[in-house]
Amino acid sequence: MSVPAAHRTVFLLGPERVEVRELPVPEPGPGDLLLRIEAATTCGTDVKVFRRGGHPRMLVVPGPFGHEMAGVVAASGPVPAGGAQRWRAGDRVVVANSAPCGACGPCERDRENLCADLEYLNGAFGQYLLVPRRFAERSTHRIPDGVPFEVASLSEPLACVLHGVDACGLREPSDVAVYGAGPIGLLFAAALRAEGHRVVIADPNPARLEAGRALGAAEGVRIERGGRQADLVRPLARQGGGFDAAVDATGVPEVWSDAIASVRPGGIVNLFGGCAPGTTVPLDTHRVHYSEITLKGVYHHRPATFARALELLARRAFDARVLLSAERPLEETEEALRSMMRKEALKVVIRPR
Ligand SMILES: [Zn+2]
Ligand SMILES: [Zn+2]
Repeated sequence: MSVPAAHRTVFLLGPERVEVRELPVPEPGPGDLLLRIEAATTCGTDVKVFRRGGHPRMLVVPGPFGHEMAGVVAASGPVPAGGAQRWRAGDRVVVANSAPCGACGPCERDRENLCADLEYLNGAFGQYLLVPRRFAERSTHRIPDGVPFEVASLSEPLACVLHGVDACGLREPSDVAVYGAGPIGLLFAAALRAEGHRVVIADPNPARLEAGRALGAAEGVRIERGGRQADLVRPLARQGGGFDAAVDATGVPEVWSDAIASVRPGGIVNLFGGCAPGTTVPLDTHRVHYSEITLKGVYHHRPATFARALELLARRAFDARVLLSAERPLEETEEALRSMMRKEALKVVIRPR
């Protein structure tokens, strides 16, 4: 495969400032890969990082931007000492945006998402990306035949969601409320439905509720922004006491409270949406205690959930294209993010060439 000398990639410079830069194509070292990106997808996290101008853990500015990507191995570095190289030029792969160390306490307990030395990878909005050895070994996955690149790119958010579904611990067909019908809430609806659960999805945006129904939600309920909406949602539970589980897919503290107020005694609340640092929520201690409500914080994904996400996409368990609102070239990444801020687009496919 011939590799050019230079390529273009999008850098985040600060709050709402991006720039397309031309850089030399990196040379993979021992164990590394060079990925030729075929499709990337924009994500709610990208919008958050774009607004805030970086992320304390994931992205230091100025730096390459974007974290959901699929492509082809353009070149693989030399076989590393004491290691192996699983990948060859031409392999169709997705690369996860994080790689665990594999040796710390959380990694040994199969909780790699909490790895004490989790490394992050950005640069999905570019033509090529150097995939460091740790990512090539632990966080690169073959794309099943028949799965297009732009659909494979959805394996990152879907892996987070499958990790979230696991965290709900639902052993039998259950009744679940999902707050928020952005890409994550919609993927929750699709993944829960695929496992046989009933889903009620709540959001202010009617078009997004329609998308939720298309992905298998039994009902979509229109709520107002800003919380105090549980009285509209809880009555839609199959049984009087509330939902077996409720998921927050918004990252808004007031909506966390709504999710907590939506479950039955013994129910579980999945606090999936990450809120701004320093925020807190009041807690009805009496209800949490006497009704044995489980509150579960959920973050990120694990290599195993990433692999399962690709299998689910390959099985066409749901129509993932419902989430892909538009396609744009690399140069229009900023406009793609702004269309998400205006809630015109759920996710945008960025084509690097
Ligand atoms: Zn993402
Ligand atoms: Zn670790």
